[in-house]
Amino acid sequence: MLTFPRRQMLSAGVFAAALGLNRPLSFIDPAWAQVTPDPPIGFHRYKVGSIEVIALYDGIWEKPHDPGFIKNASVEDTQTALRNAGLPTEFVSIPLSVVVLKLGKQTIMVDAGSGGGQWQPTAGKLAANMRAAGIDPGKISSILISHFHPDHIFGLMEKGSNAPIFPKAELVVSATEYRWWTEPGRVEKLPEARKALGQRINTVFPTWKNFTLVEREGEVAPGIRLVPAPGHTPGHSAFHVSSGTHQLMISNDTAYVPALLGPHPEWQGAYDQDGPLAVETRRQLIDRVIAEKMMICGAHFPFPGLGAFAKDGGGYAFTPAKRVSEPKRGLRPYAG
Ligand SMILES: [Zn+2]
Repeated sequence: MLTFPRRQMLSAGVFAAALGLNRPLSFIDPAWAQVTPDPPIGFHRYKVGSIEVIALYDGIWEKPHDPGFIKNASVEDTQTALRNAGLPTEFVSIPLSVVVLKLGKQTIMVDAGSGGGQWQPTAGKLAANMRAAGIDPGKISSILISHFHPDHIFGLMEKGSNAPIFPKAELVVSATEYRWWTEPGRVEKLPEARKALGQRINTVFPTWKNFTLVEREGEVAPGIRLVPAPGHTPGHSAFHVSSGTHQLMISNDTAYVPALLGPHPEWQGAYDQDGPLAVETRRQLIDRVIAEKMMICGAHFPFPGLGAFAKDGGGYAFTPAKRVSEPKRGLRPYAG
């Protein structure tokens, strides 16, 4: 069983070997990695067996503190957790990244980012970073959608016109998620703050013909399984990637901001629609990732959104992976 000392530098070789990675990752002190200013290079490649993964940075929301943010924690508790992770305490750092998977001829994206500032004005860099990484948006064959929150789906729709940004891509989503948001009367039942989102979903998605609804856990592409991870939303999904003996859990929002929910998996945030179910799902998923010695990535993990968990008392210690330099491939790094 692996154990990772908290807030200590890990041996990249040991870590990579333990996780069965086929190339070494560098790890650094979380205090350094957790601070997520705009990275000088907004994309990062790594491999899971023969599958190439490209993490793309969309931006960061420096969320003002709000006593309603976490139901069972105070602003002071939140600030303590941020301080322990080496993050600024004046606000909650919520970075956003998207992953693209290349397998065979397929280019698969997980979620679509926040749509050029449609979620927060400070998160709109996905398209530029996609270009910088040499990914042609027109070549994306499918998009696996974790859930229907703005930071994950607004990147599917043009601002204003709602025109599809990826009209040729197959949009794969849990049937539970799709049906919950689009069932008759849903918009009226949503809390005030979610009504505009519900309205937009109901105006746009039923007119699109490229959705594939997935009824249960199972393979959605070769080596990629949809894993139901409900609580954050009713049909929130993780995606499990395996190639040979190598595995990656794309956890999306299950662990949200690991600086908070690693040490406090029991915290129920305003972001989780069903708090107790989200806590149960979070523990199950992280326990599985630890037991199977998997890498894990998450939409709101410090860029490049990748790391590892270890058990730590009643919670978990999260160790982020360092963004290593992009090998020289004649690609222009994102600058700006
Ligand atoms: Zn999110």
